[in-house]
Amino acid sequence: MRIFRKSADLVEFLRANHANGLRLGFVPTMGALHTGHISLVSNSMEQNELTICSIFVNPTQFNNPEDLAKYPVTIEKDIDMLEASGCQLLFLPDPSQIYPAGYQARHYDLGNLETILEGKYRPGHFQGVCQVVDRLLSIVNPDILYLGRKDYQQCMVIARMLTLTGRNITLDFVETMREPDGLAMSSRNVRLNESDRVRAIQIYRSLQWLKKNVKPGNLSPLKAEAVQQLTDHGFEVDYVEIASAESLSITENWDGRESLVALAAAFCGPVRLIDNVTLS
Ligand code: AMP
Repeated sequence: MRIFRKSADLVEFLRANHANGLRLGFVPTMGALHTGHISLVSNSMEQNELTICSIFVNPTQFNNPEDLAKYPVTIEKDIDMLEASGCQLLFLPDPSQIYPAGYQARHYDLGNLETILEGKYRPGHFQGVCQVVDRLLSIVNPDILYLGRKDYQQCMVIARMLTLTGRNITLDFVETMREPDGLAMSSRNVRLNESDRVRAIQIYRSLQWLKKNVKPGNLSPLKAEAVQQLTDHGFEVDYVEIASAESLSITENWDGRESLVALAAAFCGPVRLIDNVTLS
């Protein structure tokens, strides 16, 4: 696997290889890689001649400085995992490569995606996500961009950002990889202590409970029950919501036809976990 630390070197390499007509798949990450990340890489490897992964812990998307300071960094292990996956290229920039002197952050008009769910609880987060992905895309210029459904709202935000910027890049949303007990794989899971790790599974259980019990009509009592289940297991809940799977607008009354997704964010001890499950 070739590792690039400088944007200019990567741009030059890709220009030469893209000129050969090789299809390029791109998997942006913040490192601390797990099997979920590698499934994105594997999807890209199947569909493209060249796959590039990036590892960059983007400071502009952390609304909480403590979360940034505690973000796990396991770069040697990450490189080993990527080598083993067959990934051909790794972009490992430092912040000056992504935000060089004179970089002007633009504002992305994300509409209601900016103010609901993660947007509400992490102000500025999605502007930061758009900034870094926009910059990475301008450097990598892939044919296909691979994103995980685990970050459902992020998938929608990036789709909107591509429309806003007019970038002609295909999006591929990859299913969430889970631990055998159902917990969604996440870089943050390593920060769960033993007992928190055991009860962390409740977030998936409550989402599955919503899937089983959802029926047309007022959804508020169902959501309140799921919040209660999590609270009973010691979670501090940011939200449990049911929304349109297409627009992500919150659904209060279900007509029985609209495709729905249930999404949750809650603290399990000091670790904030998010997850989602499509309901219909
Ligand atoms: P992150 O490093 O957390 O920013 O994640 C990088 C990419 O991997 C994002 O597109 C995530 O949605 C995706 N991802 C994270 N966790 C999982 C998972 N458990 N299954 C599939 N994709 C994931």
